[in-house]
Amino acid sequence: PQTGTTAQAAAAAHQTNGTTKPTSVLHANLNSPPPKIVSAQGNYLTTSTGTQIFDATGGAAVSCLGHNHPHVKKAIIDQLDTVEYTYSPFFTTDTSEKLAERLTKSTDGQMSKAFIVSSGSEAIEAALKLARQYFVEKGEPQRTRFIAREQSYHGNTLGALGVGGHKARRKIYEPLLNENVSFVSPPYPYRGMRDGESEEAYAQRLGEELEAEFQRVGPGNVCAFVAETMSGLTLGAVPPPKTYLSTMKSICTKHGALLILDEVMSGMGRTGTLHAWTQDSVVPHLQTVAKGLGAGYQPIGALLVHRDVVDVLSKGTGSFVHSQTYQGHPVACAAACAVQEVVEREGLMENVRALAPVLEKLLRERLGGHKNVGNIRGRGFMWGIELVADKPTKTPFPASKKLAATIHATGLRPEYGISLLPGGGVADGIDGDVIMLAPAYNITREDVEVIVERTARVVEGVL
Ligand code: PLP
Repeated sequence: PQTGTTAQAAAAAHQTNGTTKPTSVLHANLNSPPPKIVSAQGNYLTTSTGTQIFDATGGAAVSCLGHNHPHVKKAIIDQLDTVEYTYSPFFTTDTSEKLAERLTKSTDGQMSKAFIVSSGSEAIEAALKLARQYFVEKGEPQRTRFIAREQSYHGNTLGALGVGGHKARRKIYEPLLNENVSFVSPPYPYRGMRDGESEEAYAQRLGEELEAEFQRVGPGNVCAFVAETMSGLTLGAVPPPKTYLSTMKSICTKHGALLILDEVMSGMGRTGTLHAWTQDSVVPHLQTVAKGLGAGYQPIGALLVHRDVVDVLSKGTGSFVHSQTYQGHPVACAAACAVQEVVEREGLMENVRALAPVLEKLLRERLGGHKNVGNIRGRGFMWGIELVADKPTKTPFPASKKLAATIHATGLRPEYGISLLPGGGVADGIDGDVIMLAPAYNITREDVEVIVERTARVVEGVL
């Protein structure tokens, strides 16, 4: 952390960063590169202008061990010394076998195979294709439809975007997206639940909507219902209401369709258990994981496949027609194995579960009373603070205000020093009205205090 003139100098330098000439990288903003990070240690990132930033979100809920973890770095180097790359249809490796075994065991054997790829979007693409292949092999080739949820996010590749329900992200690509996808309301208690309605009754109402959608498209035509176990970016950290997931699963089961749970963000420990679905005792047919799997040390994601689905494929063609060049990449698998070892050895799930109530309590105490904080919700180490222009009516800020982006940029200034994740899609603009927190699993109670205090100062500084 910096003080006095150093901070002011850094602030000035940082502000000029926004007007430096474009670089050769095609950045999100073509005309203004974001701040440059020159080093990272633990929870802190250091910019080229010397600002120290507390990484309260691990990028986009990725760096769940913080930065520069020696055990993971060593595993990567050891793997490079062994074999850096093999083509998965030709050869397998110890690390990919070990990772897949670890992943399937972590589901108590419910999911019996893991298909290891390089990102969350790729895992979703694989899930959609595998769902389709499953029904072709079962002799139900008429099943071509997917039902997904509005204001959802499953990635930016075309298949994944096709099941994503965030209108602004879809808008210009609409002509390229899968027309066999339709959308139902997401669970969003803050805005969706009626006065006096219980969580169970709300879940029931959402179930009736899903049932009606099955009937509309023809129940025998549906491949799968696709949902984030806990909504991430585009709603802004919203846990499922009680009985929601079991209601949805029973409707899928009734109509012989698959349940695909996207745990790219909410999985691998983010909500306090390795798999978020275990907290609702609902086992998916297909499950995607990514971010926390490799903690950012390597790009990696995976599709976990339920043994019933595997059985059908094994008895059918015995193959999955979807190989990718970097599938099961040995170095990425070595990194992910090491990350999972650290999570286990250092008792990090216990740490998340112990500190989540502290984080919640401090957030509510420090921010709950702010005139623009409409709702604070989350689970484990995945929290959303929804900002509204008017609290009693829950009126969101207009998308044109780009509030969440302003909050993010403000947090990066030296006097605040915190990286916050802009999320939410109330106005269905790319920038929403939710500030998301997704810190590393190994933070301490003191770190929780730093996160809440800095977040509150940013909110107070902007609003
Ligand atoms: N699914 C969910 C729930 C996500 O949050 C994301 C990324 O934020 C993705 C899929 C896409 O993952 P990736 O960006 O690694 O392709």
